[in-house]
Amino acid sequence: MDLGLKDKVALVAAGSRGLGRAVAEELAAEGASLVLCARDAATLADTTAAIADQTGVHVLGVPADVTDAAQVKQLVASGIDRFGRIDILVTNAGGPPAGRFDQLTQEQWEDAARLTLYSAVHLAREVLPGMKARRWGRILNITSIAVKQPVENLLLSNSLRAAVTGFARTLANEVAAEGITVNNILPGYTRTERLEDLARMMAEKQGISASEFSGKWEAEIPMGRLGEPREFAALAAFLVSERASYITGTSIQVDGGWIRSLI
Ligand code: NAD
Repeated sequence: MDLGLKDKVALVAAGSRGLGRAVAEELAAEGASLVLCARDAATLADTTAAIADQTGVHVLGVPADVTDAAQVKQLVASGIDRFGRIDILVTNAGGPPAGRFDQLTQEQWEDAARLTLYSAVHLAREVLPGMKARRWGRILNITSIAVKQPVENLLLSNSLRAAVTGFARTLANEVAAEGITVNNILPGYTRTERLEDLARMMAEKQGISASEFSGKWEAEIPMGRLGEPREFAALAAFLVSERASYITGTSIQVDGGWIRSLI
């Protein structure tokens, strides 16, 4: 299947590692030019160089914090300056901290809203005018399985990702007639550095090994294993492609069967 991504320009936020990087690599393999951002300039530079070397596509790395509206504006302006347009936006950021209601402060709620919800809003605001002018665009938000089945102890993530989903579902209708789709992709437990760090941290607290702790996650997954970032990135590439032209307003999980609901 030709995904029609060869002449497209994709901005992948928080793309220096983990799921964002895997999506960037997949889009580059399909021939898309890339704009990547992350906060740490050195890691970002390593990632952009590695992807450009592996695939031969043009990759622009712009250090930026997606919680800061001014930095997001500058990020998108740099991408447009370099490539002339942004056709595809993949929103992404680190996850908010774990915690139950009585452990979380107001400040943590506000930080989480900036990280998870407002970052997606800032990015969409900057890329939409160009997409509307060209009557073609793809916005894909990386959310979480928590949207369809809340995860215990992740109150901030469960709440704010639901907000992103409401935002995306409403925006999808507002821009559908202009050739722009807005969808969400929901990672299940996927083997990234962040997940491996989390397993080590939780294992230490419980006095067990990291692999024993990961085994607890695997036991909840019908496929009996964690996902690989590439398995996630394959669906992301399809959803932002020319071929997904009639799919909008949807949330699709890549979770090995973890979500138990019917739809
Ligand atoms: P990760 O920690 O490996 O990568 C996160 C990336 O975000 C890094 O490149 C980091 O530099 C960047 N980042 C963080 N805050 C940023 C900011 N304010 N501005 C710019 N860049 C920022 O995480 P991951 O495992 O790839 O997960 C990506 C997202 O998916 C997270 O929101 C995570 O909570 C969510 N998620 C992951 C899983 C999983 O199993 N990996 C499951 C469900 C949801």
